[in-house]
Amino acid sequence: MTASDYDLEHLAQKTVANHLGMVRTEATLAEANRALVQLYEELTAILLDKVPPDRPFACRAGCSYCCSALVAVSPLEAIALARHLATRPDLAGRLRALAGENPPRDVAGWWRARLACPFLDKKNCAVYAQRPLSCRAVLSPSRTRCESLWKHRERAGEMLYYHPTVEARRKIGFGVREGLKALGLDGADLALVPAVALILDDSGLVARFLAGEAVFTPARAVE
Ligand code: SF4
Repeated sequence: MTASDYDLEHLAQKTVANHLGMVRTEATLAEANRALVQLYEELTAILLDKVPPDRPFACRAGCSYCCSALVAVSPLEAIALARHLATRPDLAGRLRALAGENPPRDVAGWWRARLACPFLDKKNCAVYAQRPLSCRAVLSPSRTRCESLWKHRERAGEMLYYHPTVEARRKIGFGVREGLKALGLDGADLALVPAVALILDDSGLVARFLAGEAVFTPARAVE
């Protein structure tokens, strides 16, 4: 069994419609995001049981090599993270400073710039409970391999990871995009740093997003 055996795209699309189809508010956006995280977590538990990895995962607190990769988020995740930062002005400041440097929005460019996620705090994720699905999905059997790729980032394509969760995130992301599109909302994948900065710097942006304006275009992740 793999993520392909579930119609994850459809499930994610339905989750978006169930929460945002009738009433579109900040509260229903947050509910939709929580439901999508739950969908991902429940599926991951099934995948790990049915398709156990060849080796135990090496991922541990304090190992943060993968936090130097570009993080793609949905608009729902970006909004949830921005709201969470109301309790962490230190992290908001760090994120704004990085956004001000206009960092690359493509995977290769971000690696080349040798940037780290602004939420990385003493090698740990400072927003762990709110971390996006992209982060949840990367599970590696080899710390040595992650360290080696962190040192030689031009070889990032050689990363060794557990594919079923990455595939699950990809399918849920597609379903979210389609679900938002069906409601007339722009659901394209965004680069975490500029997306969250846009929300922090414009108190009316989320309302305009909910009204169907393409407010996140400047933060779109670049293929
Ligand atoms: S959000 Fe957390 S887990 Fe994801 S890249 Fe940033 S520090 Fe790492």
